[in-house]
Amino acid sequence: MPLSIYNTLSREIETFKPMKQEWVKVYYCGPTPYNYAHIGNLRAYLFEDFVIRTLRFLGYRVKTVMNITDIDDKTIRDSQKSGKSLEEFTQFYTEAFLADLEKLSIVPADTIAPISGLIEDMGKMIEWLIKKGYAYLSDDGSIYYRVNKFKKYGQLANLDMSGMISSVRIDNDEYEKDQVADFALWKAYDEANDGPNKWTIEIMIDGEKKILNGRPGWHIECSACNYRYFGEQIDIHMGGIDNLFPHHQNEIAQTEAFTGKTFAKYWMHGGHLLVDNKKMAKSANNFYTLRDITEKQKDISEVLIYRGFRLMALQNQYRENFNFTFDRLEAGINTIQWLDEMLRRLKRYTEKLPETDTERSGRGRLLRHDISREFRDNQQYFVQEFVEKLENDFDTNAAMTIIFEIQSYINSGIDSEGFSKEEAKSLFDLLKQFDEVIGILDFSILTETNEMPGNIRELALLRMVAKSAKNWWEADKIRDEILALGFKMIDEKDGWRIEKIV
Ligand code: AMP
Ligand code: ZN
Repeated sequence: MPLSIYNTLSREIETFKPMKQEWVKVYYCGPTPYNYAHIGNLRAYLFEDFVIRTLRFLGYRVKTVMNITDIDDKTIRDSQKSGKSLEEFTQFYTEAFLADLEKLSIVPADTIAPISGLIEDMGKMIEWLIKKGYAYLSDDGSIYYRVNKFKKYGQLANLDMSGMISSVRIDNDEYEKDQVADFALWKAYDEANDGPNKWTIEIMIDGEKKILNGRPGWHIECSACNYRYFGEQIDIHMGGIDNLFPHHQNEIAQTEAFTGKTFAKYWMHGGHLLVDNKKMAKSANNFYTLRDITEKQKDISEVLIYRGFRLMALQNQYRENFNFTFDRLEAGINTIQWLDEMLRRLKRYTEKLPETDTERSGRGRLLRHDISREFRDNQQYFVQEFVEKLENDFDTNAAMTIIFEIQSYINSGIDSEGFSKEEAKSLFDLLKQFDEVIGILDFSILTETNEMPGNIRELALLRMVAKSAKNWWEADKIRDEILALGFKMIDEKDGWRIEKIV
């Protein structure tokens, strides 16, 4: 089955055909670093991560670019409030953002470009747009895009443009659908609002050189960034649905007027994040960053929370709204722990199996050395299904059901001692491959040593003595003591084992 993608531009599922065979060019809008990223932002970066990881898993060579919107209404406003320079202010939140990506195992883009480094590129684009009649200089020294001139305006956002009045102008970076208007490409310097933040472009208008002080508008930033790193056309452009209008619509208007070519072949948008089925808002007291969530769940290890959140995103079709609740997070964390337990069981099982056939016959048991036909068929089925689910518009939720099928296959295979050593090893390999996409399995478990502090071992032995004396009360007391020290004692058929609580 070929890879199919829901393209916002056509509002249809399309077969994915990259423009060129060598590379798939993928762009997604980066953060506005004026605060810590909220979980809605992070949900968008998770879905983008799944898409990129899937493309690579399916064998495409992918180049990715993400911008950092360090010049914007909000960064300029809040950096001044904080008393820091724009650079210092945005640097701080950019680093915090990148740290959040790492916590959620999101692979960073190959190129991460702060927009402040692209002023000259934007100047060139604006100059050309003016020359071709797509933009005009207003009396105050700002430059606006003439929306009426771009015939396909509204196509991406599916807007009816018949009632559009071209003389309406808007200079906010963000605005609503009912405000379709000429938007700012360049905003003239305004000391009261911009303070020390001023950039300059030199452009030719009607044969005359103009030196303009001010700052770029948000939308031209992404157009310039794409053009600089990818040239005229890209394969996939992604972002959250809230960026569809005006931002992505305006990116198209700018870039296509500039190049005369289709900008992005496929547009992909992630659904909104909701909290308890409501819009997330500070005023509604349901606004969370990743830090807020770990703060609220102090008794759970941070790493488990991050993995649980990532799993929640995997189990949500990317185009649908994502409803965050603490109950769902807890369920996600439980699932993660079961997956960890499966890997540990598989590891112990593999370690118990003897290395060679002679050893096996020495123990008098009939053990297979090789990979059986049936096992191979099962493995093939898992691969086919996993790939098929992902090829269906990146349905990670369905792909996760295959992971759970493998989980029960492994658990019951261990229960019946049905896997040979080779088979057990190839199960690890299979899961490692699938984890290239899902990124939630913890293979460090495989290298974990069984070392434990001496006092824990002593307590464990005391508990066994208590148990054999049927002193259950004492045995439970010791188990709790072990728990309090951060270890879990698990009884097994033929003894016990100790695990560190993560
Ligand atoms: P921003 O920093 O606001 O430009 O947003 C960064 C990314 O997060 C963009 O892809 C947005 O579309 C996305 N985003 C912002 N808010 C939400 C939300 N509530 N739900 C889902 N995605 C969002
Ligand atoms: Zn953008």
